[in-house]
Amino acid sequence: MAYDSDNVFARILRREIPADILYEDAFALAFSDINPQAPVHVLVIPKGAYISFDDFAEKASDDEIAGFFRAVRAVAQKLGVAEGGYRLLANHGANAHQEVPHFHVHIFGGRPLGPMLTRTGRP
Ligand code: 5GP
Repeated sequence: MAYDSDNVFARILRREIPADILYEDAFALAFSDINPQAPVHVLVIPKGAYISFDDFAEKASDDEIAGFFRAVRAVAQKLGVAEGGYRLLANHGANAHQEVPHFHVHIFGGRPLGPMLTRTGRP
């Protein structure tokens, strides 16, 4: 599958559509999720064109990977959720219901987050 440069996060990176941008450095951009599922729900995306975690881990340089995950930590620090605890989540592909085909990590926090997965679905 080829990277779709018109995906919504690519457009946010190019500043073609607005977002509540909270952090930016050479490797990453972070902004509030448009449909928050916790008091803190922030998305962190790499600046490079990668479809998902799988694509990023395969193709990104060591500097990009290290820079990206350092940025995720910096965002969590900036959001003030490190002490109380937070959850990182990255959906890859259909079974995970990945909606936007530009790699992103969700940061959830601000309240007790419950179990990792809902138990209502079939195994
Ligand atoms: P995924 O299921 O791909 O891991 O999550 C995609 C996330 O992107 C969802 O939580 C959704 O609410 C968020 N999202 C989708 N479109 C936009 C948008 O235009 N702006 C922002 N800020 N978030 C978006």
